[in-house]
Amino acid sequence: MDHGGHVLVVAFPGQGHINPALQFAKRLLGMGLKVTFVTAFSALNRMTETAAAAPPGLSFVGFSDGYDNGWKTSDTEHFMVEQKRRGSAAMEELVASAAAQGQPFVHVVYCILLPWVGRVAQKLGLPATFLWLQPASLLDIYFYYFNGYGDEIMKNSDDPSWSIQLPGLPPLTADDLPPFLFPSDPSNFAIALFKEHIDVITDSQQTNPNSKVLVNTFDELEFDALRSVKKLNMIAAGPLIPTAFLDGKDPSDTSFGCDLFQKTKDYTDWLNSKPTASVIYVSFGSYLVLKDHEMEAIARGLLETRRPFLWVVRSGGTDDDQGYELSCKAELEEQGLVIPWCSQVEVLSNPSVGCFFTHCGWNSCIESLALGVPVVGFPLWTDQATNAKLVQDVWKAGIKVRRNREGMVEDGEVKRCLEMAMEGEEMRRNARKWKDLAKEAAMEGGSSYLNIKNFVDELRGI
Ligand code: UDP
Repeated sequence: MDHGGHVLVVAFPGQGHINPALQFAKRLLGMGLKVTFVTAFSALNRMTETAAAAPPGLSFVGFSDGYDNGWKTSDTEHFMVEQKRRGSAAMEELVASAAAQGQPFVHVVYCILLPWVGRVAQKLGLPATFLWLQPASLLDIYFYYFNGYGDEIMKNSDDPSWSIQLPGLPPLTADDLPPFLFPSDPSNFAIALFKEHIDVITDSQQTNPNSKVLVNTFDELEFDALRSVKKLNMIAAGPLIPTAFLDGKDPSDTSFGCDLFQKTKDYTDWLNSKPTASVIYVSFGSYLVLKDHEMEAIARGLLETRRPFLWVVRSGGTDDDQGYELSCKAELEEQGLVIPWCSQVEVLSNPSVGCFFTHCGWNSCIESLALGVPVVGFPLWTDQATNAKLVQDVWKAGIKVRRNREGMVEDGEVKRCLEMAMEGEEMRRNARKWKDLAKEAAMEGGSSYLNIKNFVDELRGI
């Protein structure tokens, strides 16, 4: 079968990257392209069943970044250097071997944290497009930080009364901005990666002024933010969640590509036995480890609501995660269900779920919006505080848990937020509105569908 062009999609080996990138790969496949999906073995090893069941035209290739069993937070800087070095060599080999087999790549799509992929593509003369996996608003913030606003942001990081008005965005306080922007943040090195991403985009626009940045968002959600920085030429391609939850055309497309999903299904009957909108779903994504006092505050808040909950508590999910024994485990288990992992999109689409208590990773936010579930935001890192701000103040489909100046969550705060999300009519109405708009954007003829179609037509030279 002629797939009309072979595209290389490269994703960072984290679940929050693989999930939307794989969805994008499937969108390209659905529009008749052949796709090779590349990531490091640490992620691919968790996807063997998905890879084995891949539809014709989609294949998976792994490479060793030297951390095939995952990496520790303390190794991150070395890991990133190695990933770039080994990944660049692997990519050059793959491009050469695809050409030698008569299946040359015509385009590369690469995701966040991988600016080196864009550089390798430039070196090989291959057109490449960046797929940004956070809201458009965040790429705007990074762009403005490097273009005129950096000094003002840095010098006000400690002033709680300060806020900044960036074009196309709501006023943002220091607490609403990614902590990477402040020199005191221990993960400040990440900022260099975002700078490199913006440089790669700007450089590729010199050879192709038409080149775009694809974003996992949709027009109706971020109309102004998508258009705030003309130079970035951001185009919405989201929400990148399995199509069964959007246009429903392919009811079998329900999972993202993590074999763990298949093994932890025993919560479905429990959810089905609960009344509509009665369950609090709690999860903090695929990577972060909460501090003990945060786990206790959440546990107490859940108990105080007396409502059923489904809480994903990963243990040993990362090398840093030694697991934490909650002091009120027995009480919790009487009121709710604690599980090690779930298919989040399936859980969020279950009618019994009434709100999502989340760290506000962007996938979790956009999945919750696209499935019409109000959000309680408990942001911890990177883009999460900004995402929580947008959900609460711009999209009005959730509420953010407040911390005091010492960063602690005071007694009663978790319960207050959970009650507001479970009972708040306006939040529920808005969440339903975003669900409808997300579906419209993704379905045939919708804004994101057409953006992807135009992208595919352009790369085929139509
Ligand atoms: N996820 C899941 N089951 C879980 C926890 C997470 O399916 O028990 C998925 C979730 O649907 C999302 C991704 O893992 O697609 C997490 O991405 P997010 O950006 O929310 O957070 P990260 O893991 O990157 O911090």
